[in-house]
Amino acid sequence: MQEIVINLHIHTRFSDGHATHAELGRYAARSGLDAIIVTDHNLWVQGAEGYHTENGRQALVLVGEEVHDPTRQPQKNHMLIFGAERELSPFGADPQRLIQQGTAGGGLCFIAHPYDDAMPAFHEPDLSWVSWEVEGYTGIELWNGMSEMKSVAGNFLAAAFYAFFPHLMARGPLTRTLNKWDELLNSGKRVVAVGGSDSHALPMKAGPLRRTIFPYPFHFRCVNTHLLTPTPLSGNLEADKRLIYAALKAGHAFVGYDLPASTRGFHFSAQGKDSQAEMGDEIPAKGGVTFQIRLPLKTECVLLKDGKPVKKWNTRDLCTYITTEPGVYRVESYINYWGARRGWIFSNPIYVR
Ligand SMILES: [Zn+2]
Ligand SMILES: [Zn+2]
Repeated sequence: MQEIVINLHIHTRFSDGHATHAELGRYAARSGLDAIIVTDHNLWVQGAEGYHTENGRQALVLVGEEVHDPTRQPQKNHMLIFGAERELSPFGADPQRLIQQGTAGGGLCFIAHPYDDAMPAFHEPDLSWVSWEVEGYTGIELWNGMSEMKSVAGNFLAAAFYAFFPHLMARGPLTRTLNKWDELLNSGKRVVAVGGSDSHALPMKAGPLRRTIFPYPFHFRCVNTHLLTPTPLSGNLEADKRLIYAALKAGHAFVGYDLPASTRGFHFSAQGKDSQAEMGDEIPAKGGVTFQIRLPLKTECVLLKDGKPVKKWNTRDLCTYITTEPGVYRVESYINYWGARRGWIFSNPIYVR
């Protein structure tokens, strides 16, 4: 399998971000990303996809959309849509209809920042998802860089601190979001997890202080979605787009916080009696299943079954576990960085049926 590192959920000047698609493409190439997916609010920007080169490295810019209902009070329910290849904001008022329309032509729908606190000091509302009765969506944005900021920087002082020391902020997906994901998985649903930066590069002004909150090149080195694909990117836009969206749809992916150390090379797979499974796949329990976890470096690693830890390793980079029990198995890994234990890797599950 090949590994493709993408950063998704990004805003440009077409909505409330502060860069063009071409600038983002160059930042992405410079940051070592393979691709990014731009998702402006209620606007699918046509004609902006393509490859950009910087310092001899190439990055692909794809365009999706983040849809919500701007007339809804209070504001809630943001949805990321990839690969629908058409404008979907007219359906923003009805989340179920939005999912039907978004997936009808092969598009993917991810619930954005499922839990997202208000930030009253900055007039930022709570943008959590509330319509959990919906069906048929592809997955959720497990780790969102801005929601985490909103959860820890409720006042000017805290926001200013993290604006100047952004590398001290990230700890992992919100516990509420992790618990909700496990609840959805335990109900029998297949729910793909992705990590998004929600990058805007917002300018902050507080008295004499001027600072950009999380510049794009910084965010591109933080929470990324790593995809496993059968082939590398080819340089052909349509073929590469299909490759990326197929991996996202299948959940052949993990969420990696690449700032403390690159998570490239992580692997979680299962070997059964007659079959093999990657993250996102199902495998029969009959005859037993051996999980294999490979970490890019030796650090804390937890295997969870149905949301509960079943095995923990602290000093290994290769971990194995044998089971005959059906369940939803996933991996979390943590790393120490700047004096704190921080979430590093969150795998998609392997479904043992
Ligand atoms: Zn949003
Ligand atoms: Zn957003």
